[in-house]
Amino acid sequence: MSALRSSLGWKLLISYLLVIVVGIVTLALAAESVTPTAFNRHMTGMQMMGGGQMGMQTLTDDLYSNFRTALTEALLWAAGLATASAVIVSIFITRRVVTPVRHMMQASRHIAAGYYAERVPAASSDELGQLARSFNQMAAALEQTEAMRRDLIGTVAHELRTPLTNIKGYMEGLIDGVLPPEPETYQLVYREADRLQRLVSDLQELSRVEAGAFELHFTRVTVTGLIEQTAARLRPQFEEKDVKLQINVSPKLPPVQVDEDRIGQVLLNLVGNAMQYTPTGGAVTITAVPHNSEIHILVQDSGIGIAAEHVPHLFDRFYRVDKSRSRAGGGSGIGLTIARHLVEAHGGQIWAASPGPEQGSTFGFSLPLG
Ligand code: ADP
Repeated sequence: MSALRSSLGWKLLISYLLVIVVGIVTLALAAESVTPTAFNRHMTGMQMMGGGQMGMQTLTDDLYSNFRTALTEALLWAAGLATASAVIVSIFITRRVVTPVRHMMQASRHIAAGYYAERVPAASSDELGQLARSFNQMAAALEQTEAMRRDLIGTVAHELRTPLTNIKGYMEGLIDGVLPPEPETYQLVYREADRLQRLVSDLQELSRVEAGAFELHFTRVTVTGLIEQTAARLRPQFEEKDVKLQINVSPKLPPVQVDEDRIGQVLLNLVGNAMQYTPTGGAVTITAVPHNSEIHILVQDSGIGIAAEHVPHLFDRFYRVDKSRSRAGGGSGIGLTIARHLVEAHGGQIWAASPGPEQGSTFGFSLPLG
């Protein structure tokens, strides 16, 4: 009973009935106060036109009481009709208003319990329909986030499993005496542990950039300076691998307003990848050119190239064209995802292009000027 009393449909019905009661009482009071005056005036007029005092008084009382009875009857009829229509209207309104609200209530409970596929009917074009559509949008966004979360946990578990399985295998080999207790064996274990550590710190960095939980400290710098710094850091590795590193920067480039460390990180990732995926004897060229109100920085290599079907996915997390090759180089497929977030945080864009396998690739990003 208390659930019924607190329901919206019941409250609507009570409010209609209250309005009816107030209306009828007001009408009755108005009739009570107006009618005697009107009757008296009318009767006084008739007296003046002639007629006995006593007979006229009885006639007035009689007429007045008949009128009151008729008025009360009419008011009772009106009250009955109004109540019946209040009940019908409130049933109709309850269907129109309360039912969708109840659907949404039930659906939100289901979603809270983890059933993200739940949706509510949203056919009407009024505010309730709009509310239902917003509700469905929210449910779809939650469902997508949940799918991404599940996907991420699966991938992370898979990524962690490989080096852990390797470490376990080496340790078992050592315990069983299958592997010799020599520096080479320890080196293998160390390399796997190192990969795990790098993976964990990459994941930490990824979660930070994806959540936007980093601050950019903008300073005015020259693109040439940024490129020179990256080249200086990687030059020993280029020399060791015998890959040529060329810089080709337009001399009249205006300075840019960027976070030097973050854009340095992007460049280091792109140039590092270019070196990693370019075999000995190849070349990597870094170019910077003005382009409308932006500066484009391109890292071009003569390396292994990328097949067209992989290009659109390169910036997705954990995406690697050749998993074993990338993993052997310590890659986790996170570097380009982080680079994309950092470039986008600067208001720029990042892209990749390749004519095909064994034909080199070009990675580029834009930085807005001014
Ligand atoms: P990783 O740490 O595996 O290099 P990235 O996110 O930096 O991760 O790169 C993702 C994938 O893109 C790499 O695994 C590789 O397959 C491909 N890739 C990146 N740069 C190049 C390149 N210069 N040439 C060919 N393939 C590349």
